[in-house]
Amino acid sequence: MSAKTVTRFAPSPTGYIHVGNLRTALMNYMIARKAGGEFILRIDDTDPERSKEEYVDGIKHDLDWLGLHWDRVERQSERLDRYHAAADTLREMGRFYEAFETPTELDLKRKKQLNMGKPPVYDRAALGLSETEKNKLRAERGAGVWRFKLDQERIEWADGILGDISIDAASVSDPVLIRGDGQILYTLASVVDDTDMGVTHVVRGSDHVTNTATQIQIMQALGHTPPAFAHHSLLTGPQGEALSKRLGTLALRDLRERGIAPYALLSLMARLGSSDPVELRTDMAALIDGFDLNHFGAAPTKFDQADLLPLTARYLQGLPLESVSGQIAALGVPDDLAAQFWNVTRENITTLHDLEGWWHLFRDGADPVIDDEDREFVAQAMTLLPEGPFDETTWASWTAAVKDATGRKGKGLFMPLRHALTGQRHGPDMSSVMPLLQVVKARKS
Ligand code: GLU
Repeated sequence: MSAKTVTRFAPSPTGYIHVGNLRTALMNYMIARKAGGEFILRIDDTDPERSKEEYVDGIKHDLDWLGLHWDRVERQSERLDRYHAAADTLREMGRFYEAFETPTELDLKRKKQLNMGKPPVYDRAALGLSETEKNKLRAERGAGVWRFKLDQERIEWADGILGDISIDAASVSDPVLIRGDGQILYTLASVVDDTDMGVTHVVRGSDHVTNTATQIQIMQALGHTPPAFAHHSLLTGPQGEALSKRLGTLALRDLRERGIAPYALLSLMARLGSSDPVELRTDMAALIDGFDLNHFGAAPTKFDQADLLPLTARYLQGLPLESVSGQIAALGVPDDLAAQFWNVTRENITTLHDLEGWWHLFRDGADPVIDDEDREFVAQAMTLLPEGPFDETTWASWTAAVKDATGRKGKGLFMPLRHALTGQRHGPDMSSVMPLLQVVKARKS
């Protein structure tokens, strides 16, 4: 029997999550759900200074909003004993060593190596230190950092997206797993968690490829079989420009505030960068059904947040009144007009924020916009407007009466009237609009 599929989304709570993180979360979520497995939300909070509860709450809120429900939460800050135990094991095996170089010294070494045309890999000088030298350095500089001693061989894996990867461990610095102040670093914590929690598949950004190489060796040193790895490409802007600096403005909470619908975001991010078309899906099962990690490519993935708007508009068009009645009531739309209001506006909005403008228009009337040549015509038409209440037949009977009286027809008849009543040359079907026109109705009755 094959092992249960277990995946995790492992954000560091040092900020709000953005579209790039969502891609990672979503892929891991879909893999777990598709296999009937488990999806863990792992909070990578080993950095006590930068981790904030506010961000933990924010991450959960964002995932909830999108319906990406996790089976359990794990927090690295509660598992420090496990990481120290693993560190002890590595120390006992001779795979862990203390190093004392300051950041400035390391920088200097790197520059020298680069000048000589060599890769800037840590030179392992600390391995040559005697106990006496170490004691002296410890007394002068405090505790050193702990580095994992890589086996200098090729590290290989079949990546779920990038294909066969082979990295020469000699081209990678021995990773620091514990800082001088004792803080456990992500690389070690993640390895221990992935093995303890039975994680079978790890999908993350391609900025983690080198980490994966070192993590595979650490896992093997600790006697574990590494999970399957896949690295998705990083997102770029629509022109292919780096997005890393702008990701801050693409936080999920900001998109939510801008009125982007969850399924618009999910539909885009679940397919972007794959050979499958982006189509609006309105339930999770459909998103999961059509998801296949093998369809994703290694090339950078262009993300344009403008794509979220038409998807949101299409999503809203399909919503029944019940789904938006709260927002509609909050605008002050009377209950008996809510259904009419939604029918009229749903095809004429991009986000729910646009409802407000429509309601103000219907409630307060448009600024009178009447072209000069239509002034007389509109004035005459207004005298023919029937008494309220208006209903769906009002537009037809009114425009028929105006046509008889003025001889105008077609566009010349309808356009100035629409324009006068709504301030717009295009928009919803006027038959449906008439019953909503509060001011015009009030003026007549
Ligand atoms: N906390 C890490 C990050 O946000 C997790 C990476 C991983 O998935 O292992 O980049």
